[in-house]
Amino acid sequence: MRVLVISDVHSNLTALDAVLADAGSWDVIWSLGDIVGYGPEPNECIARLSEHEHLAIAGNHDWAVLDRLDIEAFNHDARRAILWTRAQLNPLSLAYLQALPETLIEGDFTLAHGSPRSPIWEYLLSSAVAKVSFLHFSTLACLVGHTHVPVRFRDNPASSQCRVYTLQEGEVISLGQEREIINPGGIGQPRDGDPRAAYLLLDTEKRTFEHRRVAYDVAATQEKMRAADLPKRLIVRLEFGW
Ligand code: ZN
Repeated sequence: MRVLVISDVHSNLTALDAVLADAGSWDVIWSLGDIVGYGPEPNECIARLSEHEHLAIAGNHDWAVLDRLDIEAFNHDARRAILWTRAQLNPLSLAYLQALPETLIEGDFTLAHGSPRSPIWEYLLSSAVAKVSFLHFSTLACLVGHTHVPVRFRDNPASSQCRVYTLQEGEVISLGQEREIINPGGIGQPRDGDPRAAYLLLDTEKRTFEHRRVAYDVAATQEKMRAADLPKRLIVRLEFGW
């Protein structure tokens, strides 16, 4: 089975469409949360994803929009975007977000937005946090998003550390015996200094995955954000990929 793994679409339909066009063929999409927040087209992104066979879990922005998280925990710009998104959502989109689970297990893979220990909120940024995370899922691999940075952590049972690797574009990685936590990077607001949308193509039979990047029309998304009067900082950051 070929799986298109995406995360943190953040209401950026132009970026999502670029990824769908670039990915070629796949059997199913796995979306790792934060389909909404920050960007200008929340309903359209949910509708687009719903056109395809997919599995999805909830992220912190999805929950904040539903008022399941205290928005005071978000920075000022994120908060403004959450409130704006809340006012835009149609009943279908609301029902979609309300039904999202916190985690899913599919074969060898656990899906969690932040981390398997604290799926909605925890940022998996360091080897130390990753090492602890391996205790909180039982499958071979865990797929996470949330940081918008493509990375993988490979466990080393003999060590108190795990190995950290930046994902390289076009690199095809084989899953081995050692357990992995893999982050595809972000679709709608990449934060690794590369403004292009990031995603993974996973082959569950060959047990391989490939990290891909695709440029999208950033200016088109920015124009829609300006029209929606979304915060300037959120508009500008897209062209720098941070
Ligand atoms: Zn996010």
